[in-house]
Amino acid sequence: MRDLPSNVYDTREHNRRVVLQALRRHGTLSRADLARLTGLSAQGVTNIADELLRDRLVRNAGRRRGGRGQPPLDLAIDPTGGTTIGVELRHDAMVVVLADLAGAVLREKTVPLPSADPQTVARTLPKVIRSFTALAATSTTGPIVGVGIVAPWPAGGVSGGRRSTELPGWEELADPAAVLTEALGYDVVIENDAAAAALGEHLLGAGRRFARVACLYMGRGLGLGLVLDGRLYRGATGNAGEIGHVVIEPGGRPCFCGQRGCLERYVSLEAALADLGVSALDASVDAKALAHWLDGAASRLADAIVMIENLFDPDTVLVAGLSPQLVEGVVARLGQLPPPLAPRPSSRVLQGECGPYSAARGAASLPLYGREAPHLATRAAMSRA
Ligand SMILES: [Zn+2]
Repeated sequence: MRDLPSNVYDTREHNRRVVLQALRRHGTLSRADLARLTGLSAQGVTNIADELLRDRLVRNAGRRRGGRGQPPLDLAIDPTGGTTIGVELRHDAMVVVLADLAGAVLREKTVPLPSADPQTVARTLPKVIRSFTALAATSTTGPIVGVGIVAPWPAGGVSGGRRSTELPGWEELADPAAVLTEALGYDVVIENDAAAAALGEHLLGAGRRFARVACLYMGRGLGLGLVLDGRLYRGATGNAGEIGHVVIEPGGRPCFCGQRGCLERYVSLEAALADLGVSALDASVDAKALAHWLDGAASRLADAIVMIENLFDPDTVLVAGLSPQLVEGVVARLGQLPPPLAPRPSSRVLQGECGPYSAARGAASLPLYGREAPHLATRAAMSRA
């Protein structure tokens, strides 16, 4: 994945995404606002706006009242211009989201899978998409412009990696995005689940107010997604944020990654199930045992949060994940964090607002905004300018 646009076409595509994401985050903006927020020239914004209007991705949103003279004409995303599909693959199910271009969730469905291998996914997903679009045909939604698929795999290289994904069959595929694009007939973007969760919360959830968001994502394991200065930080190989495999207990529990004592062997859904000796966190779980487990997990997670603060200095650290019980239980116990090195924002730790859908909703934003979530000033920074 390139970090910077490398030719004219990519630059234009990149700038379109910059403008679209600015509109998605801020609602309605004038062309002058867009130029200020994105750093593009006034002429550049005008050209892109004309193109996006022609493609029905944005619409004219009227003029703001007040002030002197003719107020500028505002632009907004045209939610009816198209739809995107977001998919989060889990070991036993997939969560599928149909969203409009403004990010509003139109349909959301969890589909149990006998196995999350590529063949089963390629066979099942088209049926779910067809059921969504059959419903959508009755309302005013546009065509599907792409599919984002996320899973607890190393997005920088599913195949050939030492750290194999928990999902079977994906390591053997040299280019899973190409295989799925072929199978589904839509452009497919692949991403790591924690990165997608950070994007989902940044665009639609608790991270909306912030330009720097670190999102701890408790899928079956534990990952970290980083939106830094308004863009997804992926690292040199696309695998930034593998906090689950930071060793916190030298010589501790063995991990599939080859190390011992990795954080996610102690703080994750998988660890909770193993420690409590259950196959699901349901009513059968002993409440006292769960509370004790959450105490221990929160204490270890607190250390990780301070480490994240020291490394990245984010506006906030979000905790999100598949199991509301785990996320709520851990966040409730994070009240007494170790004191920070320097004063931190009051938003030090927040719970995600997308429930179990952070990653799937982030996945739905990938076809439109890509991984190169553009550098954007926040509204606060803009008003200071
Ligand atoms: Zn590990």
